[in-house]
Amino acid sequence: MSDADLSIQDVSKEYPTAAGTLTILNKINLELNRGDALAITGPSGSGKSTLLYIIGTLENPTTGKVMLNGQDPFELKPSDQALFRNQEIGFIFQDHHLLPQCTVLENVLIPTLVDKGATSAKTAQAKSLLDRVGLTERIHHRPAQLSGGERQRVAVCRALINNPTVLLADEPTGNLDPHTADSIGSLLLEISQEQNTILICVTHSEALAERFQLRQDLSNGKLNVLSTADANEGNEGS
Ligand code: ADP
Repeated sequence: MSDADLSIQDVSKEYPTAAGTLTILNKINLELNRGDALAITGPSGSGKSTLLYIIGTLENPTTGKVMLNGQDPFELKPSDQALFRNQEIGFIFQDHHLLPQCTVLENVLIPTLVDKGATSAKTAQAKSLLDRVGLTERIHHRPAQLSGGERQRVAVCRALINNPTVLLADEPTGNLDPHTADSIGSLLLEISQEQNTILICVTHSEALAERFQLRQDLSNGKLNVLSTADANEGNEGS
């Protein structure tokens, strides 16, 4: 058995359709450890979000096994799985999904409400994370009073507040202008290193993907390791 912090063994995802079985993921294998940063690229519809959602326990694999921090989350009963997800996994989506009626600080603290509530230690941690991303002056603002990049910075803090083992980002810069996207990309890479978290980022952006230490391309249901040379070749002319 693998002793990696995250291991995905022969994970497949199939959907039954009128035209027969649609295989989206075909026996995917992946092992990552804290501190690793992986970018997943690939054509639209190739199953990148599906893979991310399986790792995030939001979708079940049809077959195969996921182990995160020594636990198979799909063996847990639903309430324990929800708690596991809350503690072990941070999500960053293309849209920030902040609650509009809550302040920046409250939004960051929301994942802590499931467990012991917003303790003073967690409030201090939230403020420290918000300071780290340059938002100390904005903690009492509401999301509507922030720029797109600032909202995504809040979403990064919210994803990290429970010290997750893995940070999953689905097109985190897809709605941002190039300059802001660049700074959010830097923040994600730096902060996941600082927090010793596994970062897995699905992106269409070559500019973002090429900054990752590890790169894989998902196509035809399979993950393929991209060497730097492959990635540069794919870049030519773009
Ligand atoms: P990507 O993130 O690479 O764009 P997705 O993971 O969103 O791809 O989707 C992968 C494929 O799975 C798509 O072709 C999509 O149509 C298909 N798919 C997703 N959910 C279902 C479903 N419930 N039934 C059938 N096909 C589905």
